[in-house]
Amino acid sequence: MSPFDKVVATTLPVVPKPLVRRFAGPYIAGETLDDQIRVIESLNREGFMVVSGILGEFVSRQEESEEAVADYKKALDAIAAQKLDSNIQVKPTHLGLKLDKEFCYQNIRTILEHAKTYENFVRMDMEDSPTIDDTLELYLRLHEEFDNFGCVIQARMRRSLDDVRRLVNVGANVRLCKGVYLEPREHAYTDRHIIQENYTMLLDELLSAGCYVGIATHDELLVWEAYRLIDRLELEPHQYEFQMLHGVERELRTIVRDAGHRLRVAVPYGPSWYPYSIRRLRNNPEITGYVLKSIFK
Ligand SMILES: Cc1cc2nc3c(=O)[nH]c(=O)nc-3n(C[C@H](O)[C@H](O)[C@H](O)COP(=O)(O)OP(=O)(O)OC[C@H]3O[C@@H](n4cnc5c(N)ncnc54)[C@H](O)[C@@H]3O)c2cc1C
Repeated sequence: MSPFDKVVATTLPVVPKPLVRRFAGPYIAGETLDDQIRVIESLNREGFMVVSGILGEFVSRQEESEEAVADYKKALDAIAAQKLDSNIQVKPTHLGLKLDKEFCYQNIRTILEHAKTYENFVRMDMEDSPTIDDTLELYLRLHEEFDNFGCVIQARMRRSLDDVRRLVNVGANVRLCKGVYLEPREHAYTDRHIIQENYTMLLDELLSAGCYVGIATHDELLVWEAYRLIDRLELEPHQYEFQMLHGVERELRTIVRDAGHRLRVAVPYGPSWYPYSIRRLRNNPEITGYVLKSIFK
């Protein structure tokens, strides 16, 4: 962690809430489902698909997870009623992974069943390294029953090639990202170039095996590597999609769309924006640099 990052991490608790809201502003749709629907409509009009997520993670009470399940069902209802092009993403620790694995399994199952009635799709995010084994176990178990379910692999993690090979064996639908959590060197690559090389290698494994991949990155070198693989494997646009975060690299996402690729924008919403933003900035103070840069732009 650089000295600047350390200062950011230690001063975060005293940063006034309105300032954090300003930092979080470009990345979230708002606090309510209505805010979310407006953003989905606007992105769909621009030719982008969306993945909707409700903010929340590492909950300490089962009621919070139950509330999240009910909110996800309402979101799926609204997306279907308004014929919007959006699927959803869930975080295992929002749905109780740290409280009780079986409880979390049932919660995700309920959401998957509801999504299935609308022929919609659910992606389960990957969180920090202590949750990876349980998350993959949940994924593999539910994947046997549901084909509208996807998971995430983080190119930063040293274990990811083994995980990808397990997922290839079951024909999983995988989002590939670098990984937002700063992990100890023992478990994760810390060199930017190695992470890029690993991302490209994992993407090659997945696409060559015929897996549907959500290519989640704003790193133009990786977008270029993906183009190269898509061309080499002669893939059709329906065999993969690019994915980017709301409020990040709007120019690049337009370039990718205009080159004829499908692109999905990840848009989170919900009242828990404050603890979420603080945790995200503290987990990875590098993000603060990005945010400051985009505010000054
Ligand atoms: C759709 C989607 C879903 C994701 N899901 C997960 C997940 O489940 N688990 C997980 O660990 N991680 C997830 N991530 C985050 C991901 O792991 C990376 O942390 C993030 O995408 C930054 O990596 P990058 O590949 O864009 O490369 P970087 O090199 O980090 O970024 C490239 C450029 O993009 C811009 N940029 C990137 N991030 C930001 C930002 N937050 N604010 C402003 N500008 C930015 C900067 O200009 C930067 O130079 C997801 C990312 C996306 C796009």
